[in-house]
Amino acid sequence: MTADGGRLPVAGPAEVRRAAGRLVRADGRAVVGMLLLNVLAAASGLAGPWLLGRIIDEVRAGRGIGTVDRLAAAIALCALAQLLLTRWARYAGHRFGERTLARVREEYVDRALALPASVVERAGTGDLTTRGTADVAAVGTTLRDAGPELLVCSVQALFTLAAVFVVDPLLGAVGVLGLTPIWCALRWYLRRARSAYLDQSAADSEVAESLASTAAGARTVDAFRLAARRTTASRGALATARRTRFHTLYLRTVFFPVVEVSYSLPVAGVLLLGGVLHGRGMVSLGAVVASALYLRQLTEPLDEILIRVEQLQSSSASFARVEGLAQAPQAVPEGSPVPADDRIDVTGVRYAYERGGEVLRGVDLTVRPGERLAVVGPSGAGKTTLSRLLAGVDAPSAGTVTVGGVPVADLAPETLRRQVVLVTQEHHVFLGTVRDNLLIAEPAADDEELWAALAAVGAADWVRELPGGLDAVLGGDGCRTDGSKAQQLALARVVLADPHTLILDEATALLDPTTARHTERALAAVLRGRTVIAIAHRLHTAHDADRVAVMEDGLLTELGTHEALVTGDGAYAALWRTWHGTPADDR
Ligand code: ADP
Repeated sequence: MTADGGRLPVAGPAEVRRAAGRLVRADGRAVVGMLLLNVLAAASGLAGPWLLGRIIDEVRAGRGIGTVDRLAAAIALCALAQLLLTRWARYAGHRFGERTLARVREEYVDRALALPASVVERAGTGDLTTRGTADVAAVGTTLRDAGPELLVCSVQALFTLAAVFVVDPLLGAVGVLGLTPIWCALRWYLRRARSAYLDQSAADSEVAESLASTAAGARTVDAFRLAARRTTASRGALATARRTRFHTLYLRTVFFPVVEVSYSLPVAGVLLLGGVLHGRGMVSLGAVVASALYLRQLTEPLDEILIRVEQLQSSSASFARVEGLAQAPQAVPEGSPVPADDRIDVTGVRYAYERGGEVLRGVDLTVRPGERLAVVGPSGAGKTTLSRLLAGVDAPSAGTVTVGGVPVADLAPETLRRQVVLVTQEHHVFLGTVRDNLLIAEPAADDEELWAALAAVGAADWVRELPGGLDAVLGGDGCRTDGSKAQQLALARVVLADPHTLILDEATALLDPTTARHTERALAAVLRGRTVIAIAHRLHTAHDADRVAVMEDGLLTELGTHEALVTGDGAYAALWRTWHGTPADDR
């Protein structure tokens, strides 16, 4: 299955079974041990009713108190053995569950981290988060409780049923026949439950997504007075969630009452038929009592099994969503090619977002290694989109973007990051020390290199003032980092990563104009010899560049040096004149 309409994929039933099999095999010895303990526990549980039947038959045969005492003591011993063995089996089950859950979690994190940014962007982080939290937790509950409990009860139920057959095959047959309504109810339920629970989880994700995006864009929502629209969207998501929940609730309200009523049928059947058969001298009273007791005893594991099967349904839907990540498009194509050099070629590039028309309508551009290129143009012209394609965040709908002859989107993340790095206005400060935040870019860097990188972006002073310097903890309960500090840290990471090509898209927009200018100059010094493509919002960046590209309405309309473009009479010349006319403080 593939991602449809940008959504993350969900694993199909066969894939879920395969994944579950893989988890069981990964801990095969523990599973065999658990099975063995369960078999022993169930076997010791069977002795009770059988011994009770024996007591009745012995008493009717006129045996004395001694025999009854011995049999009663045996019943007590068996009950104790069953108690201890069942506890041990559960303990082994829980341990297995915890280990397996850890495996599922680790796999999920690995897969989530391996997802290409464009896939996460399209699917929305809400879905990814719901899968990693609510869905993994549901799988965890099953592995910890439902799975082991299901195993204990299934073995118990199977043994109990077999015991009735051993005592008397005819009574056994009546017992099994009495279970048919439960079987039918179970089939009815299972046929509907999977899709119902999948719908419910998808609706939950939608709620999370809707709330998360509203909260993340709260200021925009306020500024554009979108509150009513967002409320309607959230209400819609909540209504769907409510509807899907009611549907699963309906399934449960049909299933459980039918099952509850059906429990008494096998016992009633055995007592009726047993009475008749005993009257005709075909079975002993002990056998009838033992069979009835067995079937009565069956209620408990059966009840547990049905509850757990219900739980299994909802958690297997969760597991399908967790496992679905394995089928998401991967960031790393096997045997990723190696670029021949650092030249970037954009040829006939067109691009359209999932919703909306073409944003880039045939862009051709060659960026020479070591060149400083500024891209300017009105808002909405497609500059950011072009920078995303240049950085390999997304692949063009038509045409190619290559670095050293290799399509950027085909490069493995490790290779790509050495080649091209995109710095935007969205920065993330990771929970951890300043050092941790910087080492992500270059794990081998020593403190001297870290300080040099911080100095290059003008951040050395404030980091030095933090308690602990490089060891100061950022984020969470630690030091707060405002937008401009986060931006400086991101830029310091770039300095450390030292890519051949750096794309700056509003990378210094959060800094005040003077600091921005200083930082850009400092960065330029550090990145000497590197290719820098800057989406320029302040024209001094364009002035300092080797060449300027002007974008308008998805096309590259002008390309040349600052001087050549200013002397020409195109859009850039007009922009420059307007900008040059504004006071320096506002630039
Ligand atoms: P610029 O950086 O020049 O302002 P962009 O590349 O950000 O231009 O945007 C170009 C066009 O693409 C705009 O019309 C914008 O509305 C549209 N656009 C940008 N991002 C998305 C998106 N995620 N989905 C749909 N349309 C988008």
